[in-house]
Amino acid sequence: MSDNFDVIVIGGGPAGYPAAIRAGQNKLSVACIDEWKNRDGSPAFGGTCLNAGCIPSKALLESSELLHRAQHEFASHGLKLAGLSLDLATMQKRKATIVRQSTLGILTLFKGAGVVPLQGHGRLLAGRKVEFTSHDGTKRSLQAKHVVLASGSEPMPLRGVAFDGERVVDSWGALEFSEVPKRLCVIGAGVIGLELGSVWRRLGAETVVLEALEQLLPMADGQVAKEAARHFRKLGLDIRLGAKVGGAEVRPDGVHVSYTDAKGVQSLVVDRLVVAIGRRPFTAGLLGEGTGVALDERGFIQVDEHCRTGAADVWAVGDCVRGPMLAHKGKEEGVAVADRIAGLYGEVNYRTIPSVIYTAPEIAWVGQTEEQVKASGRPYKTGSFPFAASARARAMEATAGFCKIVADAASDEILGIHVIGPMAGELIAEAVLAMEYSASSEDLQRTMHAHPTLSEAVHEAALAADKRAIDIPNR
Ligand code: FAD
Ligand code: AMP
Repeated sequence: MSDNFDVIVIGGGPAGYPAAIRAGQNKLSVACIDEWKNRDGSPAFGGTCLNAGCIPSKALLESSELLHRAQHEFASHGLKLAGLSLDLATMQKRKATIVRQSTLGILTLFKGAGVVPLQGHGRLLAGRKVEFTSHDGTKRSLQAKHVVLASGSEPMPLRGVAFDGERVVDSWGALEFSEVPKRLCVIGAGVIGLELGSVWRRLGAETVVLEALEQLLPMADGQVAKEAARHFRKLGLDIRLGAKVGGAEVRPDGVHVSYTDAKGVQSLVVDRLVVAIGRRPFTAGLLGEGTGVALDERGFIQVDEHCRTGAADVWAVGDCVRGPMLAHKGKEEGVAVADRIAGLYGEVNYRTIPSVIYTAPEIAWVGQTEEQVKASGRPYKTGSFPFAASARARAMEATAGFCKIVADAASDEILGIHVIGPMAGELIAEAVLAMEYSASSEDLQRTMHAHPTLSEAVHEAALAADKRAIDIPNR
């Protein structure tokens, strides 16, 4: 096998593997190096997202939501379930199968695109040389015309609180519990903390979520965050805001967590503690001497708007560079870079990155919140439509939440769309497309939506922005 490639991608997560596939599609010779190893020591492509993030969390969110609905909603459909019980081992096995199918699928995709998979550690050296150390310790010196760095991120630890993989865990550990903890504490009410807290609460854990900030979901539209807080409380998630965790200690009777809130120092004893206080870029062992690649003060690889590092023909994409730590953001960057390398057009529209929180109700948005638009001083209008007024949502017994549109008062340009409710993550795709094409709210108003579908809520919210909604009174 040749040691010379047009492109070497270091990192096989959702930023790196699409970059490699697109490079292959562009008829470039390409290798993708990835060092991920699962708990049992088996190597796997797919990075955090497929192995320990997006995919396993969504599998458990789906299963736990089904249990919750069976317990609390089936009766209203006239469905009587006797003897419903939880088999967590089967639930976890199903999750593992989904993860395995997804990660093995990458190898098939690599084969189809002519990507050479290399499992082990990659280290960039000066002059776009790459030292590859396979999992068995064998070293190879590779040379590339272009290198794409896609080394991802890792969980942020809480100072003074060591992960022990059992009682004090990160988000990956929290996806692997073999029994439902009686008492659970999650530190951090960010997206990951709320999703994991929801899973274990639905499965029966008494769940406390400690959040240092005074406000829940400060990055979401204010009305959406308020509605979300109401539903999380209804689920029984005990979310304590303004609660800054200072430390935790594992003792025989449980994990003692101490935090400070407005009343002073508080403490809490739980069976398991999940630390979900954010993630940081991972670049350990990635860069040799004299590569010309620089890190910023927070440890992100410095890149320009086209994902170029300071070194010629060395690029970086995904969680290891600035911007939201999201799989789809990394994927678009990876693909755009592979196209640029091939001399094709590559573009990432950072203004239309959708955010989704896979709780129940689901939360999704794109563009600016009403608060952001207001702060910018731009005259604006809003329109909202509650799912309670959607026939499809009523048929689904999923009437919580609403869709809200924020548009420029003069030009009518859509500035943001916010959904909390059933399938919000799917509905937001229409909003992303609309914003990608710089649509006005009138464009959405004049677009036909099938009846009865949840997407009518997006249509009606757009109509409501001009007080022309049909299915709700206009105020
Ligand atoms: P990673 O997925 O971290 O992949 C990097 C890969 O590079 C890893 O396999 C790593 O082992 C490898 N690597 C690093 N350095 C080297 C080296 N020197 N040599 C060889 N290999 C190396 N995002 C969403 O968009 N939607 C979600 O629903 C979602 N849910 C999440 C749930 C959880 C619990 C977590 C933790 C994250 C979630 N995320 C979600 C975030 C998402 O997982 C990340 O944004 C995404 O994985 C980033 O992709 P990446 O390719 O940049 O990095
Ligand atoms: P995210 O960055 O979206 O994953 O969310 C992480 C959350 O953890 C943020 O909302 C932080 O405010 C919160 N957080 C960080 N450190 C602490 C801490 N020591 N105690 C409680 N919450 C924290």
